[in-house]
Formats: sequence, C-alpha cells, structure tokens
Amino acid sequence: MMDAKDAVLRAKKHGTVIPAYNIPYLPMVKPVVQAVTDMNSVAMIQVARVEWEKFDSQSLEAVAEEYGKYRNPEHTLLHLDHVPVIDEDQKKVDYLPIIRRAIAAGYQSVMIDASRLDLEGNIRATQEVAQVAHGAGIPCESELGAVMGHESGPRIPYEEIFATKKGFTDVAEAERFVRESGCDWLSVAVGSIHGAVAENLRHQKKPEARLDIEHLKKLAGATGVPLVLHGGSGINKECIREGIRAGIAKINVGTEIRQAYENALAEKEDIEAARQAVYDKVCEVITDMLCIRDTRSLLYGD
Ligand SMILES: [Zn+2]
Repeated sequence: MMDAKDAVLRAKKHGTVIPAYNIPYLPMVKPVVQAVTDMNSVAMIQVARVEWEKFDSQSLEAVAEEYGKYRNPEHTLLHLDHVPVIDEDQKKVDYLPIIRRAIAAGYQSVMIDASRLDLEGNIRATQEVAQVAHGAGIPCESELGAVMGHESGPRIPYEEIFATKKGFTDVAEAERFVRESGCDWLSVAVGSIHGAVAENLRHQKKPEARLDIEHLKKLAGATGVPLVLHGGSGINKECIREGIRAGIAKINVGTEIRQAYENALAEKEDIEAARQAVYDKVCEVITDMLCIRDTRSLLYGD
C-alpha cells in the first residue's frame, strides 16, 4: 500500500502531480478507480464535508465503504478533503470529531480548512489537526488564502479576482504558517476557483481560470512543502502544466467529473451510463489535461 505523504513527495520530486478526485455521488468511486488503474496512474479518491452535506455522498464512512469495494492500493489513496472550521454558510463546525472519524474509517490523509479564520486562528486549528493526524501516522493538508467559489452569495467576476489577487496566499504568511502549523501540504490561492456548490449555481460551466505562476514559485520557495491546487477543473491547460513545474504536487478535480456524472444521468436515468461518462472524463483528465499516464511507473519504478 502506498503512503500518502511519501507519494506526494515523490510527485514533487519528479515534477508531476497526484490528482484527487472528489466524490459527491457514491457510484462515482468505481469508474474513477478503474480509470486511474487502466491509465497506470496514481490518484486520491477524496470527499469533502460539503459533499455529504449538500450532495449525495452520505458520509465519510459511506465513501470509505464504497472505496473499500473498488480500491486498488497500488494506484489509489483515500483522502479527506475540506473539513472547514467555518463552513460555506458561515457556520462553525466541530471539526476534530470528523477528523477522528476519518482516521478510524481508514483515510490515509486529511485536510483541515481554517482559512476563514485569521492567520493566528488558522495556525492554531491546523496545529491541532496536524498533531492528531501525525499521531495516527498520516499527513495533514491545510489552506491559507481563499480559493473562492464555495460561497452561497453572489459570485465575484473571475477577472476581478485575478486582477486584484483577491484572496491570494501571502508569501510571508505562508512561510510562517507552514513552519508553525506543522502541515504537510499547503493549499494555496493563486488564481484557481472552486466550482459553485449553491443549488442555483452548481450546474453552470466554470469560467476558465489562470494561475499566477510567479506567485506560485515564490510560495513553493518560501514554504518548501508540496503545494495543493484546489479548483483544478477548468483551468487553462498550459497554466496547469507550468503550475506543476512550479511546485504543485496535488491537484483537486471535482466539478469536471461531477458534471459529467450529472449530465449523463439527466440524459438517461442509467447509473452505468453515468459511470461510463465519469470513466471517460477521468481518462481525459489524465491524458489531456495533466499528462500523467504511467505515473505509477514513474513514481515507483515498477
Ligand atoms: Zn477545495
């Protein structure tokens, strides 16, 4: 079985990336694992709290159980995405019990998202979760800066976010944050955006996002840890490849495969057809968007 921390470090060392595919609907697990295996790639299967609260993945345990049926330990890892300290509706979340449940359910890495707190608060909450995770022998991802998109309110036009660098991760803060919080991977805001989760917005096509590569290089240099890019769907391809060279070693892919599933189901009420659509989309992400076919051999020499 792969070790998550080691796998992401290997990706960074080889200048490649490990994608993490979100699971808002349980039947998506099977085709994602199948596609990753068939492409001889390495990936994480992940679920965020918002996906069992507002979509249909039920619970982190339900995803772990579904994952247990299909996983391929040579190619796939199980990760807990966004456990917010303050959620997208501005409500406080009792986050530590969720982290403990994930550890008990066999998750191989976890994310705490305290990015809605101030710097001090974010450091403290991350320290707390990193300690629990490390105690269980798994790495902890955290977020600094604000990857926009999950808010329920009106969306800010993309060009405005990019031009004003609204929410972008500050380089000096990132250096201090990683040093003091003990996080293993840092999710940074450098131009990507999350797909909308609000009911009335979630079916919209995401605007094409770009990345501020110079800013990313500074963050990679200042922190020294693998960086994570959230909102990986719908970013300009060339930007993604440059971003990977600049230090992104994990990339989250959610909206693109979710919409493939939803659109296929809307067309024809057939879970198998929707699974096929997810399979095809994941193959496309691996070959066309990220160019990471055969990363299993690249990373592990087998
Ligand atoms: Zn995210």
